[in-house]
Amino acid sequence: MYAEDNSNYHRKFPPMGYTILIIDDTSSVRRQILNTLHSAGLFSNYFEAANGIEGFKTLLNEKIDIVICDVEMPGMDGFKFLRMVNSRNELQDIPILLLTSHEDMATKIRGLEQGASDYVTKPFSPEELLARVKIQLKIKTLQDHLKESNRQLRKLSQTDMLTGLYNRRHMMATLESEFDRSKRTSTPFALLMIDLDHFKQVNDTYGHQQGDEVLQSVSQEIQAQLRQYDSAARFGGEEFALILPGTTLDEGIMVAERLRQIVSKRQFTGPISDLKITASIGIAAVPNIKVNSTEDLIRLADDALYMAKGNGRNRVESALPA
Ligand code: GH3
Ligand code: MG
Ligand code: MG
Ligand code: MG
Repeated sequence: MYAEDNSNYHRKFPPMGYTILIIDDTSSVRRQILNTLHSAGLFSNYFEAANGIEGFKTLLNEKIDIVICDVEMPGMDGFKFLRMVNSRNELQDIPILLLTSHEDMATKIRGLEQGASDYVTKPFSPEELLARVKIQLKIKTLQDHLKESNRQLRKLSQTDMLTGLYNRRHMMATLESEFDRSKRTSTPFALLMIDLDHFKQVNDTYGHQQGDEVLQSVSQEIQAQLRQYDSAARFGGEEFALILPGTTLDEGIMVAERLRQIVSKRQFTGPISDLKITASIGIAAVPNIKVNSTEDLIRLADDALYMAKGNGRNRVESALPA
């Protein structure tokens, strides 16, 4: 019972888990704050800075969970510090507690309006400082969890569950944005449509489960061949689409030919160790005078794929160049 209560407590406020940054030009104030938070076991790591610039540098270079920042400091004061933080997207989620040295309401309001999460008036009561820091850390923890959940959900909504590649919907969105980018920057890009040959026979001979494993295995191989900016999607059952930014038709044909060979040499394990798989690949690229939309591009790549099937499979065909 006790152990359970303890672990709950730890999850909410992992003791010694946070990294704190204290910015104040008076070292005795920094000491006082550190002692207060340290005795409550609220951080494992801390940084101190005597002015806004120093503090900002630390904030950029270290992983900070919360900042306590004085308003009045020589050089860069608390407000300037807030403005610098506001200019950086990656720093927006870090709570900043302002230390104001008087009961000046205007200063507090200005600080909150400029992005501070809260304030503490100096001289501070240790209990109040602790309470306010805890609230900010709690909000930050919840926010971090929410962000992580959103990230996972987004990834899930873009992913094909069987293969781990992008799904068709995400591929269409990527294709649209790549198409726009390519037009705007006058750079080429290539679209490959890959369809496995006689895949129905694989299922008929080895069963659907083994068929699935082939799809996973081939997907891994395709993924391994990509450059950082390329993307691969499962476009349909045993059909894949590859978007290759910055790639001309001729370069795309070379990539496709390499992929075709790699797939045909792929050695499977287990019950399908005798299996040989081949793929037919159709390719189209922009710029191409026949292509005014992503639909045009897909149709050209599909026509080329159809040609590859018609010309005997296990081969690469491309749409006519512009
Ligand atoms: P072709 O060379 O003309 O492409 O012949 P094919 O047999 O590959 O083409 P067809 O379109 O006739 O059949 C595709 C087969 O792919 C049908 C289906 O059984 C199989 N398939 C589609 N999706 C999946 C899947 O998720 N898992 C498995 N195991 N098989 C799938
Ligand atoms: Mg000061
Ligand atoms: Mg097929
Ligand atoms: Mg097919």
